[in-house]
Amino acid sequence: MYIRRQLPIPIEYGHIVRARQNIGSKIFRTPVAKSTNLTSLAGHDVYLKLENYQLTGSFKIRGATHAIGNLSQLHRTNGVVGLSTGNHGRGLAYAARQAGVKCTICMSRLVPLNKIEAIKQLDAKVLIHGDSQDEAYEKVVELVREKKMYFIPPFDDFDIITGQGTIGIEIMEQVPDVKVVVVPVSGGGLISGIAAAIKHRKPNVRIIGVSMERGAAMHESLKAGHPIEVEELTTLADSLGGGIGLTNRYTFNIVQNLVEEVVVVPERKIADAINYAYWCEGQIVEGGGAVGIASTLTGKTMPDGPMVILLSGANIDIDRHYKIISKDYGN
Ligand SMILES: *Cc1c(COP(=O)(O)O)cnc(C)c1O
Repeated sequence: MYIRRQLPIPIEYGHIVRARQNIGSKIFRTPVAKSTNLTSLAGHDVYLKLENYQLTGSFKIRGATHAIGNLSQLHRTNGVVGLSTGNHGRGLAYAARQAGVKCTICMSRLVPLNKIEAIKQLDAKVLIHGDSQDEAYEKVVELVREKKMYFIPPFDDFDIITGQGTIGIEIMEQVPDVKVVVVPVSGGGLISGIAAAIKHRKPNVRIIGVSMERGAAMHESLKAGHPIEVEELTTLADSLGGGIGLTNRYTFNIVQNLVEEVVVVPERKIADAINYAYWCEGQIVEGGGAVGIASTLTGKTMPDGPMVILLSGANIDIDRHYKIISKDYGN
């Protein structure tokens, strides 16, 4: 299937246990809920891991809190800088405020006002620079060089991956006989951490990634055998957009070695999954958080034993959510 280069995995189970000690009291240990509907459909127990209930509405707070907890005294004083306008930006701003560390989020002129407001409400400073994410990144580089601030990237980072990996420890505690874990994938920090945690203890558990068809960078890179760029397209799973970085350090290697497969789902099935999560499970889930349900409803992740589907976030525009649950998304 995939070409797999066997490289050592630099993340050990102990690193993730340490991350949990660092962040355990600062985040929620989110519940798992057994889904009777999906259990009937799949023929095996299916559980939903509810990170849509996490502080800031997504799991991103885990890695961000761990990275901030590990800052040097110099960087605690000078502050941290981020580039994301989405869930990572929110998680980072919240974690920084909790730790009393200054936080600056750089963004381009094209970012909508409501996203800027959401970050400002968490007391982070917003710096607008340029007309693209790449130009905004120039500002990040400048702050790191001139103000000696610390850049916290969204996924390809040791602390971020081990922080997200704490979900893997929780899953093993909450569903000890788990056989399959289904995880949304974008840059791959989330699935890398979870796979590292679980495969170290239970190597026979299958870890399946899910992305949207439109612009699935990790999926395409796995097929190519090395990180490649894909065109970024608008998708209902907006938190899964973006590349994995051509100079990817950690996540591509970890996914290549520890993840069985990354499957993709079409837009309409993501909408169906958001709709299903609401009406059949009572859950509000954003597009990126619903792809695991979408892949299960379409038979792409059929389990051979107890399965856990990660619902990774809740942050969907509420008007859009209303349209989807009213089945008003056909045109
Ligand atoms: C960031 C994010 C993902 C993907 O995480 P990666 O570490 O980039 O793969 C999935 N779901 C939600 C809700 C996210 O915010």
